[in-house]
Amino acid sequence: MSLLRVQDLQKSFGAHRAVQGLSFSLEAGEMLALIGPNGAGKSTTFNMLNGQIRPDHGQIEFKGKSLIGLGARQTWQLGVSRTFQIAQTFGSLSLAENVQMALICKDHQLFSFWPRAHDFKRDEALALLRQVELHHMADKACSALAYGDIKRLELAQALANEPTLLLMDEPTAGMGPLERKNLMALVKELVLERGRSSRGLAVLFTEHSMDVVFGFADRVLVMSAGALIAEGTVEEIKANERVQALYFGYKSALEPARSSSTGAYPA
Ligand code: ADP
Ligand code: MG
Repeated sequence: MSLLRVQDLQKSFGAHRAVQGLSFSLEAGEMLALIGPNGAGKSTTFNMLNGQIRPDHGQIEFKGKSLIGLGARQTWQLGVSRTFQIAQTFGSLSLAENVQMALICKDHQLFSFWPRAHDFKRDEALALLRQVELHHMADKACSALAYGDIKRLELAQALANEPTLLLMDEPTAGMGPLERKNLMALVKELVLERGRSSRGLAVLFTEHSMDVVFGFADRVLVMSAGALIAEGTVEEIKANERVQALYFGYKSALEPARSSSTGAYPA
């Protein structure tokens, strides 16, 4: 049984069909990339998968159970994490406290947090910070962090939920080439480590840098105008004529000019 099974997913905004008839599966331990030009429907797909918006039609099964109608909170509690956006880190709190907050949300213990805020779940928080290589900064305020470090903090917050499925929508947006690779290498290492310990972690991610996609994805889904137009291994996707045609036409949208050295596809 696949970890995640998506069947004929559809979502329209007014007359605009943002996602139309999307079907795919994701296996335990897999790193699956979802790519496509801006406006292809990737974020809308993520929003449906984590329960933020309800599909007009279709099925989403996670571990054999339907997620339709559960909402973001319940979906999160079942082990589907989404990397937090910057707005969800608290600048005046320390890194450790930010991760403690995420751990507390998982356990619904918000009220018992405040009286002993500093110590509550601190060891667990430090262990998570160690996994994303931020433990040496545990007591620094979040507001002092560089952008790439904030992204790693968001990852630690997402991991606090002990997810089986991690959704990362443009995790490396705004990063330089080296920082991107470092973040995704870290994610890949977490996936491998969780696999070895049989806890299991699968990742679905969107990404504009083809270097990152081809370097880290086990499989790739390609969306255009709301529909899936290709699916396969990195080699299959590189050789796919529809994908090549799409990417030649949209190259500028897929790889901003500021990072010409990152190997926009086709190389
Ligand atoms: P991507 O993430 O691939 O860039 P999105 O899923 O964000 O694409 O958007 C797909 C299409 O749906 C776009 O045309 C976008 O303008 C539209 N869209 C997304 N969210 C909304 C919304 N809340 N209301 C209206 N239109 C939306
Ligand atoms: Mg998007």
